[in-house]
Amino acid sequence: MRAITTAPGSADSARLDELPEPADEPGSLLVEAIGIGVCGTDAEILSGAYGKAPPGRDRLIIGHENLGRVRAAPEGSSFHPGDLVVGVVRRPDPVPCASCAAGEWDMCKNGLYTERGISGRDGYAAERYHLEPAFAVAVPAALGDLGVLVEPTTIVAKAWEQIERIGARAFWKPIRVLITGAGPIGLLAALLGRQRGLEVHVLDRVTDGPKPALVAAIGATYHSGPVRDLPPPDVVLECTGVGELVFDVMEIAAPDGIVCLTGVSSGAREIPINMTALNKQLVLENNVVFGAVNANLRHYRAAVEALAQAQRPWLEGIVSRRVPLADWRQALIRKPDDVKPVIVFG
Ligand code: BGC
Repeated sequence: MRAITTAPGSADSARLDELPEPADEPGSLLVEAIGIGVCGTDAEILSGAYGKAPPGRDRLIIGHENLGRVRAAPEGSSFHPGDLVVGVVRRPDPVPCASCAAGEWDMCKNGLYTERGISGRDGYAAERYHLEPAFAVAVPAALGDLGVLVEPTTIVAKAWEQIERIGARAFWKPIRVLITGAGPIGLLAALLGRQRGLEVHVLDRVTDGPKPALVAAIGATYHSGPVRDLPPPDVVLECTGVGELVFDVMEIAAPDGIVCLTGVSSGAREIPINMTALNKQLVLENNVVFGAVNANLRHYRAAVEALAQAQRPWLEGIVSRRVPLADWRQALIRKPDDVKPVIVFG
């Protein structure tokens, strides 16, 4: 079978490999890949800057944004051949830490977790793979191949859940939300904000391409000017990881405001900040700034629900390109109108 593999740590070492069929794994589902979404994490892995091969190996099968079809399911599992399924990315650490033991591997405390297609565990960019039923999430047939958006949606489902849990620390009635970055994560964060009936503003640098219309189509407002010109938001989802923007959004957050950071910064450029002034503001305004990464089963279920409620043509706009497996490299070349390229199997 074909699989996309790379040698983590070595730039441009990715290739389409011919590998043996997955070895028997009793108790697991055998899944046939449908599609793999490509994101910034994949680009970082392929650049050699991130990722880890499974123990004792040099190469890793990539792919963490996944969708497949069950080919064979063990007796007594709730899955059946033909079902659409998404595999969870992270596996709990083997110790396990208290969070992993409680099924909240997204909050792992000792960093010994593994992530399929990212860190220490083969991913889903293979024509066939095994998946443990406990880490498999059913996708409604009506979503079809748009089920490949489940994993990126889990990231924002977790972010929103945590924002709401933090908001519950006091009386809280948020009105205005700012999302920085109109990539797939920003757009999906905006969708979930609108599904909550909030006033959503999305800020991005570009003024053309599909992003402004995708934002408008869900009843949110698109901005491309300076963040400081925007009215103070009650909630910010920062989805770029750009240092300057991270500090700007902390400063413009409204009193009691909650800022959720989801973008993993890259690069080593230093920016000067006045931490004393920022500290004073965060204290005097009861602001919360927190980071959110990864997702557990609760967030996968919430993501499936959010996508099932969304308008299909809007989701189609997020999947900007479908690239056949044989041309997989094309999916990694950023095009001006790109939102989410997907590598299509089969
Ligand atoms: C994935 C997460 C993962 C994170 C860090 C993201 O691209 O969606 O599941 O935890 O990268 O590796």
